[in-house]
Amino acid sequence: MEDRAYTVSLTKNPLISMKVMQGHFATSHFHISHYLDVNELKTNAIAAKDVARELSIPYLANVSVDTIVCMEGTEVIGAYMAEELLQEGVNVINSGKEIRVLKPLSSVNGKLIFQCNLQQYIEDKEIVLLVASISSGTTIRRAQECIAYYGGVLVGISALFNAYPTNTEQEIHSMFTSEDIPGYQVCSPDECTMCKGGYKLEAVINSEGYTNI
Ligand SMILES: [Zn+2]
Repeated sequence: MEDRAYTVSLTKNPLISMKVMQGHFATSHFHISHYLDVNELKTNAIAAKDVARELSIPYLANVSVDTIVCMEGTEVIGAYMAEELLQEGVNVINSGKEIRVLKPLSSVNGKLIFQCNLQQYIEDKEIVLLVASISSGTTIRRAQECIAYYGGVLVGISALFNAYPTNTEQEIHSMFTSEDIPGYQVCSPDECTMCKGGYKLEAVINSEGYTNI
């Protein structure tokens, strides 16, 4: 699978890139045509800092932020985003504030929760939600429900990858989109053209990586 990988780079900053592998993959609810490896962007401190700088741009001048809620292992990027948003500058609205970087826990019934001592950083606070990849939209929905439940005010959503850049219901600041990946498809297993074409599933993927079947 790795030998089929190619790299997609951000036009305005080619240092930010992700590995893409075409194939036939299953997520928890969907079948998907490409595996996107964003682990380097999430875990390499230098790459994560570059990513954070890009993702902070829409908020720097005029969006007040108290808390960044990180999903899918984006905490390193979240911490650097906070640093970007807190920098000194006349056009930086959050200079001199405090910004928390949190990740919710998954409870036994699969709901996302914040522990009691952390709920004060969500209730009535201005929240940016940071996710790695939006493909089915399930992660975003779960996180939004959780933030709303604890009384947080969502002021922005940022993603490394967004499969639905034309969905205007909700503004999402994304670095890469499906438009960067020709032929990108997400579909329910019943409607999967790869299954219908007789192609076997190759791997199960989640936000941590993939497991070959
Ligand atoms: Zn399929």
